[in-house]
Amino acid sequence: MLQSKLFTKTKKEAPKDEVSKNAILLSRAGFIHKEMSGAYSLLPLGVKVMQKIMKVIAEEINAIGGQELFLTSLQEKEVWEKTNRWDDKVVDNWFKTKLKNDTEVGLAFTHEEPLTNLMKEYVSSYRDLPFSAYQFQTKFRNETRAKSGIMRTREFIMKDLYSFSKDEKEHQDFYEKAKEAYTKIFTRLGLGDKTYTTFASGGTFSKYSHEFQTLTDAGEDVIYVDKDKKIAVNKEVYNDEVLSDLGLNKSDLVEEKAVEVGNIFSLGTRFSESFDLTYLDEKGEKKLVVMGSYGIGPARLMGTIAEVLSDEKGLIWPTTVAPFAVHLISLGAKGSKTEEETKNLYRQLQERKIEVLYDDRDVRAGEKFADSDLIGIPLRVVISDKTMAEGKVEVKSRGDGGERMIDEAELFVHLEKHR
Ligand code: ATP
Ligand code: MG
Repeated sequence: MLQSKLFTKTKKEAPKDEVSKNAILLSRAGFIHKEMSGAYSLLPLGVKVMQKIMKVIAEEINAIGGQELFLTSLQEKEVWEKTNRWDDKVVDNWFKTKLKNDTEVGLAFTHEEPLTNLMKEYVSSYRDLPFSAYQFQTKFRNETRAKSGIMRTREFIMKDLYSFSKDEKEHQDFYEKAKEAYTKIFTRLGLGDKTYTTFASGGTFSKYSHEFQTLTDAGEDVIYVDKDKKIAVNKEVYNDEVLSDLGLNKSDLVEEKAVEVGNIFSLGTRFSESFDLTYLDEKGEKKLVVMGSYGIGPARLMGTIAEVLSDEKGLIWPTTVAPFAVHLISLGAKGSKTEEETKNLYRQLQERKIEVLYDDRDVRAGEKFADSDLIGIPLRVVISDKTMAEGKVEVKSRGDGGERMIDEAELFVHLEKHR
């Protein structure tokens, strides 16, 4: 894409009341727009990153058999009354509204109830189980605090996966697979080193749930981390019993601030009981379906990447989710040979289906570099009169700042390798 055509422009300042680093950087670089506190729109660069994050998540969830669906955000009161979760005294972050005829409806804060209700149409025999279904769908939550930029908003897309199993053992098998899929997702998104599988409170049907917590001062949670075992415990459940249940040692643990980027939950028969979601087993006996739920917030992940992988100059996207693979910059004057060569390289990159942002603007080199640092595309390729004289291009890694001169053939090999 030509940078001159990108309607967003970088900004020196973020919105006045913005306090969180992720929202400041993402607003200044033109990825997001703040509509109001706790509600952000995605701009073209932001959409590109979100789509890539969602693609990584979808690939790993598909790999464990998840089937994608898309439930409505408008929800029926009666369905929620079955589990006693309609009442504002029980769930304090509901957004509710009314139809013209005064019927109350809710705006989804999660989807266990409608999905369990729906599955009654499809589950009746042991032959129908196990399976899992997921979606990327908007959740509305009237959060009390919305001060962490795009990491805690009142409207956000969640990847929510739900599993349906015949019994506890079958459920545990899937739960372990989901745990592994989650670890793969966070690793592919460049957060593997800093993300810990964390014991958290489990609710009625299991002792613990697992959260995936990424270490950052911008996080709202406090966890105790065993860096060698790569396991952590949320402060909420931190006590001697938890420590002895994974074999952790008080002394090996370090207190850290972290953000919950995902979590996985054993639901037991809590929802299947309320909706009478049952099946007949091989002996013809009626059994309750055992469920699990597994959430990830793609926008919270985008915010976490912005927090964790940035520096004082701006964002640093991992290749997997970067809006473009290459930021191509020409330092030649308009109409010069250098500019011609840059255009030529731009065309070749496009032919090779390498995503490239070409800064074709007529602005100072310093401004181009500052914008490039702020936007954070992993590889910068500069063509100048100097590189032309050597028959090479200058490449600079946004991550480690490493610079070198290579020829175009080498550049293509490098880009193919890091696709
Ligand atoms: P938290 O403890 O941070 O309030 P939660 O436990 O309510 O989150 P879930 O309901 O399990 O979270 O949601 C699954 C995932 O959705 C979370 O792990 C997080 O990544 C994301 N998420 C939750 N709340 C928000 C929010 N307000 N804004 C953005 N993402 C969110
Ligand atoms: Mg939580």
